[in-house]
Amino acid sequence: MNQNKLFNLTRIRLALSYAMVMGLILSLCGFGVYKAVSHAHWVTLDQEVESVAGTLHDSIELKLKQPGRLETVIQELLPNICIVGDKCIQEQSNPKRHTLSAINQGYYYVRFFDNSGRLIAIAGSYPEGLSPVLNKKLWQTLKDSQGKSYHQISFVLHTQDNRNWGYIQVGRSLEDFNSYLDAVKLILALGLPLAMGLVAVASWWLAGLAMQPIYQSYRQIQQFTADAAHELRTPLAATQATVESALLMPSLDEAEVRDILQTLQRQNLRLITLVSDLLLLARLDRQPTLRQKCCLNEVVSDLIEEFAAMAYTAKVTLTSSIRVDEPINIVSNYDQLYRLISNLIVNAIQYTPTGGKVTVILDRSENYAVIQVEDSGIGIAQQEIPRIFDRFYRVNSDRSRSSGGSGLGLAIAFAIVQANQGNFNVQSELNKGSTFTVQLPFDVARLNSIRSQFKSLIGNG
Ligand code: ADP
Repeated sequence: MNQNKLFNLTRIRLALSYAMVMGLILSLCGFGVYKAVSHAHWVTLDQEVESVAGTLHDSIELKLKQPGRLETVIQELLPNICIVGDKCIQEQSNPKRHTLSAINQGYYYVRFFDNSGRLIAIAGSYPEGLSPVLNKKLWQTLKDSQGKSYHQISFVLHTQDNRNWGYIQVGRSLEDFNSYLDAVKLILALGLPLAMGLVAVASWWLAGLAMQPIYQSYRQIQQFTADAAHELRTPLAATQATVESALLMPSLDEAEVRDILQTLQRQNLRLITLVSDLLLLARLDRQPTLRQKCCLNEVVSDLIEEFAAMAYTAKVTLTSSIRVDEPINIVSNYDQLYRLISNLIVNAIQYTPTGGKVTVILDRSENYAVIQVEDSGIGIAQQEIPRIFDRFYRVNSDRSRSSGGSGLGLAIAFAIVQANQGNFNVQSELNKGSTFTVQLPFDVARLNSIRSQFKSLIGNG
């Protein structure tokens, strides 16, 4: 499958999964909010009905004399009261109709049953079609003939001399309550798809953001593989051409065979160097290095000795300058330090014309050992400096290739500095020279604690 398609598909999958999870969470939250709102309203409603019914019950009970008989004074207390099988007292004719203002609001009805469960009277906004049969349950939810709901509370009534009078039921219409909950439901039902739409857009964007580093590192690996294959092909093709031309010759004398073998050896050596450089880079990326105390003075003097011949051939003066009296020791890996500084020295000699100078400087600061490789060579253009540490990157590939460089030297040096938690700095001017500065910490553990202290200071400050 095309890689771009694969990345797009993964992005879609990621976005969909994220949107689904978020959708589920949002739905659950919406459901929870609805339940909480509805519960809070039920509680308030129960309290309201209970308090209205309680007040009514207490004020009526004081006036009841005979079981099952509603005194006239009570009848005057309630609006729109109707005695079953008798008269109805109209609201307008009732002078005390404001006595129980809640009943007057139009949401409440009151009904009275005698001890045998017979409906005696109704009052307030009595709905049509409510069952006239007494149900003594404390709380009930009833429906009228139009399907409207009512929440009802029932109490036992006593006469003044504490005999059972009968029952009072106070009901409240749930119309306003239901329409409020319907509005909440509607808002949630409309808000959820809108929120889902926003979540989908956000998911797509976030998935893109999450994929970016993966995509970038994939491109880097792709580039690296192509570059590595290209670098490997050059010596392989040269070897193949040498062998083919040798085979085409009818006969070979000893000098020719020697010549061919030397060419093959050169190309083979190039292959070996390239492969071991690649392996070293892979190891530096993966494994922590084995560290022990090692002396940088020793490494520098060994390297000056080793590259003296190369510098002599290139007609470049190679010197060292040790700027501290006592030996500079750091906890690191000797082979890596050797490789790091040697790569810098080789480059300095290679990119310095005849008659130039290369100096290796060893110094120290409070926490770091400082190694500088200074040359009076061709220099590097400012815009090239950020790229010279990239794997296989060469500023001038022809010149670099002819000198045997594969473009991995600085990448390896950089990886070693990183593995040692050090810093790299390059200063260069075209046609004047370059200075590569490496700082390596004396004590990595101490450096880490200083760094974390500094971070926490910045965090607090
Ligand atoms: P190479 O194997 O080509 O030397 P490096 O990774 O060591 O690869 O260096 C990358 C590029 O940086 C080189 O091709 C060269 O152009 C540039 N470079 C490195 N060191 C120097 C230097 N001391 N002076 C000028 N250019 C340099």
